[in-house]
Amino acid sequence: MKNMIQFFNTLSGRLEHFRPLEKGMVKFYTCGPTVYDYAHIGNFRAYMFEDLLKRFLLFMGYNVKHVMNITDVEDKIIRAATEMGISLQQYTKVYTEAFFQDLERLNILPADVYPRATEHIPEMVKMVRALMEKGYAYQKDGNYYFDLSRFPDYGRLSKIDMGARKAGVRIDSDEYEKESVHDFALWKAKKPGEFFWDTELGPGRPGWHLECSVMSSKYLGETFDIHCGGVDNIFPHHENEIAQSEAYSGKQFVKYWLHCQHLVRDGKKMSKSKGNTISVQDLTTQQGVDPMALRMLLLSTHYRKMLNFTSDALHQAESSLQRIRDFLYELETQSFPEGGLSGVETLIREAESGFVSGLSDDLNISTALSAVFGMIKKANILLSLGEVSHKGAMRLRSAIQSWDSVLGVLSDRGQQTLPADLQQRIDQREQARVSKDFALADRIRDELLAQGIVLEDTKEGVRWKTIPSSPSKKRSP
Ligand code: AMP
Ligand code: ZN
Repeated sequence: MKNMIQFFNTLSGRLEHFRPLEKGMVKFYTCGPTVYDYAHIGNFRAYMFEDLLKRFLLFMGYNVKHVMNITDVEDKIIRAATEMGISLQQYTKVYTEAFFQDLERLNILPADVYPRATEHIPEMVKMVRALMEKGYAYQKDGNYYFDLSRFPDYGRLSKIDMGARKAGVRIDSDEYEKESVHDFALWKAKKPGEFFWDTELGPGRPGWHLECSVMSSKYLGETFDIHCGGVDNIFPHHENEIAQSEAYSGKQFVKYWLHCQHLVRDGKKMSKSKGNTISVQDLTTQQGVDPMALRMLLLSTHYRKMLNFTSDALHQAESSLQRIRDFLYELETQSFPEGGLSGVETLIREAESGFVSGLSDDLNISTALSAVFGMIKKANILLSLGEVSHKGAMRLRSAIQSWDSVLGVLSDRGQQTLPADLQQRIDQREQARVSKDFALADRIRDELLAQGIVLEDTKEGVRWKTIPSSPSKKRSP
């Protein structure tokens, strides 16, 4: 089954069968956050696609060694920390911690290693020195640059027009024009009043691209299997990583490059510079959006398609999630007769096959999800006809749980708790029912309904669920 997996490799520009370098083991690098601010849900589109990929590989029986860097030194961080008169560590700590909290909130599996750029300066210096010795780099005014004219393969990943390259033009900034093809900085000389490391290269600090080349090879080796990021990383960041790493090692850097399209809002890429960002915390803590609904939304569009973030899309994700939760709830709380598996086994087999073949086809999540929801729909019919046995219900539960090891949407983190005052009203309604004050019980029920809480009286007692909020409600993005 394993060799049936295929991914779209940005490097070749086509779908390729996935075969890891080492049998059963996938070495996986994902570009992490630049911790100069809170990450936004656009960033989490990238981290979520990477989480789906990793969980699917685990589901298919691979071991995955995952490394995600934390960029804790970079132009904007240095500028901000210098202005505030605090150290880089002091400045980045709050954003790094918030990032880890968001990962947890969204049930994203942790990487095996989160190397920080500031903790790898000696290794970066070593790489620059080696590139100098090999003739791929040169020095000017204390800055060190990669010499693009020495690396004819430059542009293979991004298919950039090398004709646009201006010989002898250099670029120092960590952010630069996408269209420009320039020698880029490996190491930047100290500027007055700014942070620096005193090294064999002279006083200065590393360029942004260098850190990923250095830290990926340190933890995964000089050649590894998969490298991911958003499409904005393709050029120049990943192109520059390839140039540095391959010039240094003389070996292929990465076998499979996978990039996700952007999350957009009102037709514009979500980014700090456009001022249209929303953080995970804003959405979940301030606006009351269920983190698992956000996870569902971020997962549900194929990674190579643009994801349009709207309140409607969020509501749709909420109701999809609710369908899975309701189904599980039925299986967990109803009582079922003894008996065989009858139609259940076939339903599960068909769904499993759709789920696996969908995801094996370049992570086609739509196919995978329709297999799951198709099964839920058919199983619900069997449930309503009383045709599911105890054994069948157990099998259905374990199938959903096993697919959820990939989807990750049924985590406890998503379990909603009601605010105390609403829970109190539910309890008061229960008391009213016990004392046969049905008028009061109905009034409370209607009052809760107006607040988006539906009550259902079951054999096991009252249960509640939220109805997806209407687009006009505050919690909408
Ligand atoms: P940054 O912190 O800007 O380096 O970005 C971290 C990751 O988020 C990178 O992989 C980016 O490609 C990705 N990213 C940034 N903005 C978006 C967006 N609007 N949609 C999807 N991915 C994004
Ligand atoms: Zn990177």
